[in-house]
Amino acid sequence: MIITFLGTAAANAYPEAFCQCNNCEGARALGGPSLRKRSAALINDDLLIDLGPDIMTASFLHGRSLARVRFCLQTHAHADHLDPSHFLSRSPEYGVVNAPRLHFYASTATAQRAAWLLERDVAPASLLDPEAGERLNLEIHQIEALQSFTIGPYQVTAFPANHDPTVDPLLYAVEMDGHRIFYGTDTATLPEETWQAFHRHKLRFNVVILDHTYGPDEQGSDHLSARQFIEHVARMREEGLLAEKARAFATHLAHAGIPVHPELADYAARHGYEVAYDGLRV
Ligand SMILES: [Zn+2]
Ligand SMILES: [Zn+2]
Ligand SMILES: [Zn+2]
Repeated sequence: MIITFLGTAAANAYPEAFCQCNNCEGARALGGPSLRKRSAALINDDLLIDLGPDIMTASFLHGRSLARVRFCLQTHAHADHLDPSHFLSRSPEYGVVNAPRLHFYASTATAQRAAWLLERDVAPASLLDPEAGERLNLEIHQIEALQSFTIGPYQVTAFPANHDPTVDPLLYAVEMDGHRIFYGTDTATLPEETWQAFHRHKLRFNVVILDHTYGPDEQGSDHLSARQFIEHVARMREEGLLAEKARAFATHLAHAGIPVHPELADYAARHGYEVAYDGLRV
């Protein structure tokens, strides 16, 4: 499996458009990996995690075509993870040629929010109506936390997150050819139910990608801080959930207490993890 990080920022990107804090100004001055778009990831060339607002910009910048994407695992329906206008770029009705059918996986609450957003802002089409699915070349799969399913060559399990319950957010484990990834954003401290499910499914991750929204001295609130990220990875290691040579990557980074990439990468190296950046392939 090749994972490409299409974006690694929290809700308002990093730097934030109108912010002149030291971190945002530092990122503008340094450029490169310190410039972060809203979080999304691509696995191989056919599995997208989150139909986010910056995926096309990421596709251009990092030379990763999305034209062969057949599956999308949607974490939740917050605006930094879901831009429903992308649904239209599947449809022959909009002149799109040869787009493969998109299988879109989301919790029921997130699928309903996506349908509402599409109808309100983009096109008078109910996403959840099978006829609209035909027109948009799309199949919506409403899934639940703790459900396992197979999509193409991938074995996927969805886990509950500790985040806005109105959109019923999901985190995902993806397995292919004996390798396992955990993609865990957005979430605060993982629910015990999720830890138990890791053990029930006998998961040992080769790569863990985890929410790291706030710096070490910030409170976590509805996301994880650096300190909590470190505690989560330590617990995974203690409980045997990490494979040998497993790598842990921080993503979903906000300007609040998170320094520019080289500084954060130094901090992470001292604490045994790595910091993802836009365009990074693993
Ligand atoms: Zn987010
Ligand atoms: Zn700032
Ligand atoms: Zn969110």
